[in-house]
Amino acid sequence: MARLLFTGKSSGTFDPISGLSNREDLAKTLSLSTTVFMKQVHGNLVEIVDNNSTEIFEADGLVTSFKGTALVVQTADCLPLLISGLSADGSEIAIAAVHVGRKGLINGVALNAVAAMQKLGAKKITGVVGPHICHRCYEVDEQLFNEVTALHPQTKSADRRLNLFAGLAAQIPQVSLRNLNICTLENPRYFSFRRGGESGRQVGVICL
Ligand SMILES: [Zn+2]
Repeated sequence: MARLLFTGKSSGTFDPISGLSNREDLAKTLSLSTTVFMKQVHGNLVEIVDNNSTEIFEADGLVTSFKGTALVVQTADCLPLLISGLSADGSEIAIAAVHVGRKGLINGVALNAVAAMQKLGAKKITGVVGPHICHRCYEVDEQLFNEVTALHPQTKSADRRLNLFAGLAAQIPQVSLRNLNICTLENPRYFSFRRGGESGRQVGVICL
């Protein structure tokens, strides 16, 4: 099984401005050869990385088949999606870390990550979604609500709330998906942009 880690506020922020020393500490703490971060732009680009990637890719998904290469996604209220894929003979062959917000759901970034893993030979794919804003808390205006729910009916929740997890699960039915059910807005131990413009970011990390 791939190794997974989700941090909260107690580990500090990993945002690209004030989180740089925490990023370095994380790489040291994990004692892995390579720890790869992204410059996330709410796009749908997925990068395949190898075991000596030092670049910070402008992307919203990372995929690798290299052991000891940690992939990192940073989030506040968006969904940190960590995916693991087994080959036909049952060995773990590829992993992915994906940033899925409302825009990412619409632009299909998770679909691109799954497709990239399948190209690397992944047959049986499972995923975990870490702390994010839940369907009771993610309220949007009427226009946005109508726009998103028209494209992704499963996101429809009561009182103009969006259920991004349900939308994601429906978008990638080939992935057996688990929700840790930790809401960033409700739980003060996690960074939440919506709770008051907090700029901190927690991370989800996956490594073969
Ligand atoms: Zn909530």
